[in-house]
Amino acid sequence: MLPTLIKTVENAAMPELEGFQCHTCGKWHEGLPLDYAYDAPDYWSESLRSDADSFLNADFCVIKNKDFFVRCLIEIPIIGRHEFFRWGVWSTLSKTNFDRLVDLWDNPKLLDEPAYFGWLSNSINLYPETLNLKTNVHSRNIGERPYLVLEPTDHPLSIEQRSGMMPQRVREIAERSLHR
Ligand SMILES: [Zn+2]
Repeated sequence: MLPTLIKTVENAAMPELEGFQCHTCGKWHEGLPLDYAYDAPDYWSESLRSDADSFLNADFCVIKNKDFFVRCLIEIPIIGRHEFFRWGVWSTLSKTNFDRLVDLWDNPKLLDEPAYFGWLSNSINLYPETLNLKTNVHSRNIGERPYLVLEPTDHPLSIEQRSGMMPQRVREIAERSLHR
């Protein structure tokens, strides 16, 4: 599954992020995307649309009333910048935690919830396999997507989340996404 480009940030005060000279096609691309997202967990398939025990919307997914997922963000600091780079990805939840999250979705008590354990449910093809990395799902204010904190391991994505990525890496991801 390939991520959808969410938005492009153009910021004149951040010259390195306002656009980039592409190493692949040689042209100048306006803006540098900082957000990429997956519309569904990798386990989803369109054939499940007709299944009564499965559903997918912008925030939640259930497969066969057995597997439960929430859409989250992995936020990665960009070194030397105030912005974050963000992967919109899905995490599994236990049925208990899924039901709690759905119940509290519009409730300020959501902020008091502990982090929920989950397994990362997208394979981000710019890293070694990311499917089933261990994560914790942290709730935020109502209307804001939960964020994921990956288990601190030596997986490159986990290292990036802890240490941040250079602006050049953001550019490299944009080049690879634009010309895949
Ligand atoms: Zn290009």
